[in-house]
Amino acid sequence: MKKITTKYSDLSKSQLIKLVEEMEETFYQISNDKNETELLSFPWIGNLGQWHWMVENNLLLFNEKKLTNLGYEREEIPEEVGFEFFTSKLHPDDYERVMEDMRKYLRHASDVYEVEYRIQTKDGNYIWYYDRGTITKENEDGEPLIISGIVFDITKRKVLEEELKESNEKLKQLVDIDELTGAFTRRYMLNKIENEIQRYNTEKLCFSLIMLDIDNFKLVNDNLGHNIGDTVLKDFVEIVEKPLRVKDSLSRWGGEEFLILLPATNLSDAVKIANEIRVGLNHTCMNDAGIVTASIGVSNYYEGDSTDNAIKRVDDLMYQAKYDDRNCIKY
Ligand code: GH3
Ligand code: MG
Ligand code: MG
Repeated sequence: MKKITTKYSDLSKSQLIKLVEEMEETFYQISNDKNETELLSFPWIGNLGQWHWMVENNLLLFNEKKLTNLGYEREEIPEEVGFEFFTSKLHPDDYERVMEDMRKYLRHASDVYEVEYRIQTKDGNYIWYYDRGTITKENEDGEPLIISGIVFDITKRKVLEEELKESNEKLKQLVDIDELTGAFTRRYMLNKIENEIQRYNTEKLCFSLIMLDIDNFKLVNDNLGHNIGDTVLKDFVEIVEKPLRVKDSLSRWGGEEFLILLPATNLSDAVKIANEIRVGLNHTCMNDAGIVTASIGVSNYYEGDSTDNAIKRVDDLMYQAKYDDRNCIKY
């Protein structure tokens, strides 16, 4: 801006008009610049402002919001602080990751310093910050002199993410686990069998299937009611599960029909397990329903079988057991 040294009274009318015009122009420019600065610094949601780290003398300049957001007043903090003021408040599980990210950036192994971390507030709780910075000034040797960054409070987003993760887990459970009996669902089992077939194709590892259908279950419902029927289904699963190993999976294939996958198991071992199940059922008296038996089919996987073929084979065997007076095993 031009400095005015002339006394106004010494100026002619046209000189005065020219001066007023110049001043008007300057005023217009200043007010325009101000608007622009305000626009650029407009804090959008979560934005806590900027920070500048003078690397050589470890001096940190930062927007006060970064501090007050943690519950501190500016007066509580020394006039000059280093980066440790904030990093000492990082969650112990996040500290090393954040440090490594900065080290990585400083040795030019990443394009930007960009991290999300938990930071402790004055009252001891943790909130989430998103922090992003770049080198804004270097010396002649290319070493960083100033790193500047911007911080956001992303706690709300993180809480929502956590809630979403939890509800996804619950949904996944509903899709994979039968609510009544706790056995896997048909969908889950189909996936498992497909994986096992792929494994067979690469490792030639034989697996087997057991299909069970509860005998005369309709009578349980008809005589004792649907609720007792449900209890019987739960008890049935508990008994059937007993001889199974950790690697085996039991699924509820349909109403009162169950399919078991026995990985890395040949036919004779599978039949042994099926027999243990049959014996278990024949020796366990359920509270209201007494002894509940099942018709059982057992088959190993045949090379080239599709999932459907493999299941059909064991299903047919189960039906043979059903027509052969029930409570028996066909393989
Ligand atoms: P079979 O020995 O020939 O297998 O005779 P069954 O009575 O067991 O077979 P059927 O197919 O005639 O009847 C099966 C019954 O299972 C009918 C159906 O109402 C019942 N059922 C299916 N799902 C459930 C369930 O979740 N709870 C209860 N309580 N009953 C169920
Ligand atoms: Mg049935
Ligand atoms: Mg039945």
